[in-house]
Amino acid sequence: MSTHQARKRFGQNFLVSPGIIRKIADAIAPRAGDTVVEIGPGLGALTEPLLEWLDHLHVVEIDRDLIARLRQRYPPERLTIHEGDALVFDFGALKAAGATGPLKIVGNLPYNISSPLLFHLADYADRVSEMHFMLQKEVVDRMVAAPGSSDYGRLSVMLQYRYFMERLFVVPPGAFNPAPKVDSAIVRMIPLNREEVGAGGTAQDEALFARLVSAAFSQRRKMLRNTLREFVDEAVLEAQGIAPTARAETLSVADFVRLSNALAERRQ
Ligand code: SAM
Repeated sequence: MSTHQARKRFGQNFLVSPGIIRKIADAIAPRAGDTVVEIGPGLGALTEPLLEWLDHLHVVEIDRDLIARLRQRYPPERLTIHEGDALVFDFGALKAAGATGPLKIVGNLPYNISSPLLFHLADYADRVSEMHFMLQKEVVDRMVAAPGSSDYGRLSVMLQYRYFMERLFVVPPGAFNPAPKVDSAIVRMIPLNREEVGAGGTAQDEALFARLVSAAFSQRRKMLRNTLREFVDEAVLEAQGIAPTARAETLSVADFVRLSNALAERRQ
């Protein structure tokens, strides 16, 4: 088969380092019986080792040339290929279609769609048991950042609200062809069990919580009394133990949840 020309518009950087590929597959370590979905299988760098662990795997791929190659390489009983855009793929439909076993999602994600894809996947957090992704290291650092750090922002709060996240290891550009300009990193994301998190850690109105976090970080250098003016007055902030002069980056996820719940109660 002819060589595939990597397509920039699909964020194609293919893994070529056998050592790194093995390390990623070992970190994912799916169990027989899991329902695993790989986003963007590409030329199969991760598909191949995942199929050593599994009898069957689902993949979501947008590039028709790559889909044709995958079809030639794997029979349908080993690989179900979902042609199309992972940004609109219904990850919940697999279970509805009869897939059994914990749902695990993995992928060396196209960098150009990583943030919207993470927000799309958040809709399925209650049905997923774990996810492993390769992303730009800078994005992973923002995802796992703690309050007070310059990396801490909307992405950190919105994802840490839903997941326990861990940066596992960094992958240098030389592990890919073509080599990207920046370092990448592997992140493990385990959805938090909302029943265990409890009412205090759960936003009563998640849409309001999202809008509040977004507004708070819209101008991260500004004080909350200014960025949240449309939502709360200073007395409400103070009643929640939050200084009106504080900046969004100093608030924990629990602070945002508490504030959003106080607001939700006032609106009822
Ligand atoms: N998994 C392969 C590897 O590690 O070598 C390829 C990774 S490459 C960074 C990203 C893959 O995602 C490519 O195969 C690309 O065609 C695919 N892709 C890009 N945008 C996509 C989308 N919106 N939905 C599904 N797949 C997409």
